[in-house]
Amino acid sequence: RVTVVGSVNMDLVATAPTLPRPGETVLGDGFSTVPGGKGANQAVAAARAGAACRFVGAVGEDTFAGELRANLAAAGVDTERLRSTPGPSGVALIAVDAAAENLIVVAPGANATLTALTDADRAAITAADVLLCQLEIPLDTVVQAAAAARDAGVSVVLNAAPARPLPAALLQAVDLLVVNQGEAAAIAGIGEQDPSRLLDALLAHVPRVVMTLGAAGAAYADRDGQRLDVPAPRITAVDTTAAGDAFTGALALAWAQRRPIADTLRWACAAGAVCAQRHGAATALPTRAEIDQMYAQ
Ligand code: ADP
Repeated sequence: RVTVVGSVNMDLVATAPTLPRPGETVLGDGFSTVPGGKGANQAVAAARAGAACRFVGAVGEDTFAGELRANLAAAGVDTERLRSTPGPSGVALIAVDAAAENLIVVAPGANATLTALTDADRAAITAADVLLCQLEIPLDTVVQAAAAARDAGVSVVLNAAPARPLPAALLQAVDLLVVNQGEAAAIAGIGEQDPSRLLDALLAHVPRVVMTLGAAGAAYADRDGQRLDVPAPRITAVDTTAAGDAFTGALALAWAQRRPIADTLRWACAAGAVCAQRHGAATALPTRAEIDQMYAQ
């Protein structure tokens, strides 16, 4: 059982030959709306990987809200704790050019209203094996959720994305920190790019760290002195959007199941690889069978 407290957005994606400069208008050539947000993506990833997953979050009262809710429900995520608040849902306005360079503005909308947890939210957290959070909702809400989990003996997995300074009250509650290299450097407060030094620096703050390394897989370190490097499956990457979300959702489930850590990392890497070898974000998130198949290779 995994409970996610996090963001849910509609991604509005326009493609154009070139990106506009300030004040410029360019004519695009394609448009799509895709459910997103790290919280919702990771909840869908965990559910598709086989987790009993609950989502605590907020959508607005607009035309996107219904589709965002339905997208979570279609993946089997329990949306009872997903509230509707007056105003817009979270949206990401994304422009992508022919070279796949992008411009993104995120308007948090309803995600910014998730400022207080109710008793029912806390019950959803304390009934889980793992609480999974990211940093796209108000930081104080993440702190509240992590504290509730920790008090109940529920393991806290924090995907510290997008990176921002983290209060001690949050770091103290984290069991497992999941970051990419850029986030690791930002949180450790060093420019150091060497993975093993970054892991060392992060262990000063949290007891266990997983660092994703793109095509190089993932690395793990803990305060007991254990270190692991797990290579990624060899695949042809087509679109790595949401690969990190696929990885983290699968990782949270395997962590909840208390699978051995080497196994947990390999399985999460398999999930990231399946996602990276196909187009799309939320639509590319793999099922348990697909992850198992990649894992077995
Ligand atoms: P983020 O997108 O958050 O920066 P990464 O790029 O590190 O995350 O990717 C997350 C995970 O997805 C990696 O740890 C890896 O398991 C998988 N992955 C990403 N890109 C590739 C790739 N080119 N080949 C194989 N696996 C990949």
